[in-house]
Amino acid sequence: MAVLQRIKGTNDILPDHLGSGIFRSGLWRRLEETSLRVASLSGYHEIRTPIFESTELFVRGLGDVTDIVKKEMFSFTDRGERQLTLRPEGTASVVRAWIENGIGVSDAVARLSYLGPMFRAERPQKGRYRQFHQFGIECIGGGEVRHDIEVIAVFWNIIRSLGVSGVTLRINSVGCPECIPHYRDVLRAYFEPFIGELCDDCRERHRTNVLRMLDCKNPACQAVLSSAPPVTGHLCGECAASWDGLRHGLDLAGIPWLHDTRLVRGLDYYTKTAFEIVHEDIGAQGTIVGGGRYDGLVAASGGQAVPAVGGAFGIERMLLAMQAGDPALSPATRPRFFLVQIGDGVDDDIERLLSGLRLHGIYAMRADGSRQMAKQMRAAAKFASLEVVFVGGDEWNSGRLAIKNMDSGEQDTLVVGPAGVLACLLERAGA
Ligand code: ATP
Ligand code: MG
Repeated sequence: MAVLQRIKGTNDILPDHLGSGIFRSGLWRRLEETSLRVASLSGYHEIRTPIFESTELFVRGLGDVTDIVKKEMFSFTDRGERQLTLRPEGTASVVRAWIENGIGVSDAVARLSYLGPMFRAERPQKGRYRQFHQFGIECIGGGEVRHDIEVIAVFWNIIRSLGVSGVTLRINSVGCPECIPHYRDVLRAYFEPFIGELCDDCRERHRTNVLRMLDCKNPACQAVLSSAPPVTGHLCGECAASWDGLRHGLDLAGIPWLHDTRLVRGLDYYTKTAFEIVHEDIGAQGTIVGGGRYDGLVAASGGQAVPAVGGAFGIERMLLAMQAGDPALSPATRPRFFLVQIGDGVDDDIERLLSGLRLHGIYAMRADGSRQMAKQMRAAAKFASLEVVFVGGDEWNSGRLAIKNMDSGEQDTLVVGPAGVLACLLERAGA
């Protein structure tokens, strides 16, 4: 029978000692815990929403002219003829949950974080998958520019805490319904004489979504696009003040930024601040974090008209960026002790020690199968154990404990005190 394989564009994330590269679960856990913890320092706490929602939610939330809605959604009809979609992103669901649970009533400014799998039917490649994962935060009700800075700073601090370097924060303003229609006219008129030189996508966007033309990656279009008039010259008074405040606030926070005049969102309810954090060395899929202000989304989703700002990063891309800085990415979880048996008659001692150590929260292992010394030592190394403890043999019988550090290769001998072996190991582990 043919062996069934995982679907293209999805990944198995294996235990650290079995996986390779970024697909090791200990790394994921470390990234997830760091992200949740750093976000919580600014008051962002985790919300978990379902993985599928009604298709309508994403069509309304993202707009039917976006790539995601036009060609990337995994949608299906269920047995009750309902149109459902595996979530392609997190914001629409979080906003729905905010409305549905009346969160705005108790928290005028609601700070929420989320993480989990997202689904998009894209061409799989390094850093681009069909099931991928995001960590995101949303500040719903936060209408001041300091909320924009707070959101950006959370991502910046996560990146720093994970030890990722070589990233650039890119910012722009995308205006508001007050000033953007005018800017669209300016852009459309600017592109008009060049339309014959541009790609098909650009030509279509010239009609449907002129802002998104700025986003085009086609090399043939770059010259025309890069000299387009920047939006920041066409902002209304309020948006201009917010744009000034953003740059000033980032300077105060010590976060370096770059003005990217071609960073756009292309949907009416994305307003003012747009930002991305880009890594220089992980190739074509270098955008790790994307976000911005979306003052019109909550109302468009059927809630009150409240301002909001948020963003998200791709967990796989963040891990690729971590790996670029530290190719070894030392496994997060290593056994503190690996008990190696010498001779017979110590089985009960080993089992008793393993139980005692684990009861005290210490990761402890022994070899499965063969009791040959070389095989046990190989097993200890495979788990990346920190220290091997030898149980049995002459030292053990004379009340001493031989311990080998697996990183340095150095061996120690401890005299077991009256409290016994377990107490001796617990003390050594600082437990
Ligand atoms: P891209 O320009 O790479 O397609 P996007 O604009 O579609 O990104 P967002 O919707 O802003 O991305 O999602 C935020 C982040 O999620 C991205 O910056 C990226 O890190 C990650 N991401 C998006 N799509 C994928 C995917 N298919 N596979 C892996 N990560 C992804
Ligand atoms: Mg995309």
